Amino acid sequence: MHGEELEYVREAYETNWMSTVGENINEAERVVAEKIGRKFALSLSAGTAALHMAVKLAGIKPGDKVFCSDLTFAATVNPVVYEQAEPIFIDTERDTWNMDPVALERAFELYPEVKHVVLVNLYGVPGKMDQIREICNRHGACLIEDAAESMGATYKGRQTGAFGNLGVLSFNGNKIITGSSGGMLLTDDQEQAVRARKWSTQSREKAAWYQHEEIGYNYRMSNVIAGVVRGQLPHLEEHISQKKAIYLRYKEGLKDLPVAMNPYDEENSQPNYWLSCMLIDDAAMCKQVRTDTEATYVKEPGKTCPTEVLERLAVINAEGRPIWKPMHMQPIFRNQPFVARDGFSDVGIDLFHRGLCLPSDNKMTPEEQDVIIRVIRDCFS
Ligand SMILES: *Cc1c(COP(=O)(O)O)cnc(C)c1O
Repeated sequence: MHGEELEYVREAYETNWMSTVGENINEAERVVAEKIGRKFALSLSAGTAALHMAVKLAGIKPGDKVFCSDLTFAATVNPVVYEQAEPIFIDTERDTWNMDPVALERAFELYPEVKHVVLVNLYGVPGKMDQIREICNRHGACLIEDAAESMGATYKGRQTGAFGNLGVLSFNGNKIITGSSGGMLLTDDQEQAVRARKWSTQSREKAAWYQHEEIGYNYRMSNVIAGVVRGQLPHLEEHISQKKAIYLRYKEGLKDLPVAMNPYDEENSQPNYWLSCMLIDDAAMCKQVRTDTEATYVKEPGKTCPTEVLERLAVINAEGRPIWKPMHMQPIFRNQPFVARDGFSDVGIDLFHRGLCLPSDNKMTPEEQDVIIRVIRDCFS
């Protein structure tokens, strides 16, 4: 928090604009639309609500098959299921840890009838946007871009959230810009913006009474929350440079260890470095076993595993996280198809097995980060 947030919240309070309309909402929407380079930004109660509106606007219907990123947070996929459609999970590539265009192409060969793709930019790193867009265009598919983790990241100079037919942002408490909660739907189509606004405010028809022709939702953002978002927005680039410094310090501090940082396309993209992640080389992995709810490992000299690193970080009260567990490994999605580039490889499982998210908070001091780096180095002794 920087101070401006409180000013805007106070303004909402003092002018009594405490509901889901007001100047904070208008301004936050204007600033975000301009920053991302889209005609319309619609404030909603959460990124998940924005994804749900995107799924409905895209015309996803019960029984439709939808290609979805496999390595992501479940919120990317859940709204597809809210509409009783069927996610088909697309494996991950190793260059950016995002949807593999080769696997996506193969999925269109297997399921030529599919018309929708839901893609995430994981951990703030843009996916292979040129290739994904080209494949979607060639197959006449609508792309929903979940930019919840990647606000401010660019690919070939263009902001993430601007590549999909519909884009989604989140202002959840852990994101690079937070409102404590909240999200936005991004589109260039005025008719879509108007429809989503109507659905998100209980689908009232233009009438002198409460008239309803469609199912509605209570998905609008509060003007109080929007005050926090509005106060945070001027600090986006500052947050990104803090996160980048954290990423680079890890990279430097871990450079002689058998690990790699989460990769990105250095030529074409600028991540927002939301989370710094680390992947342990195969040869440096000790034996690690994970059941559905528990993990254990067998310590070997010179080797470690994410479970050990996370445990050792917890001892110094630092919080790391496992990589998102791939959707095709989740019990709830056990029966959904999974498409890999060659039909048998599984990059997502491998990243989940060997990777972890490092403490990445932008308030972390270099001294605190040095302690974390020392603990990680120790795991390899
Ligand atoms: C946080 C997040 C969301 C959901 O956003 P909420 O605002 O928490 O609903 C969706 N997708 C991804 C990838 C996320 O990380």
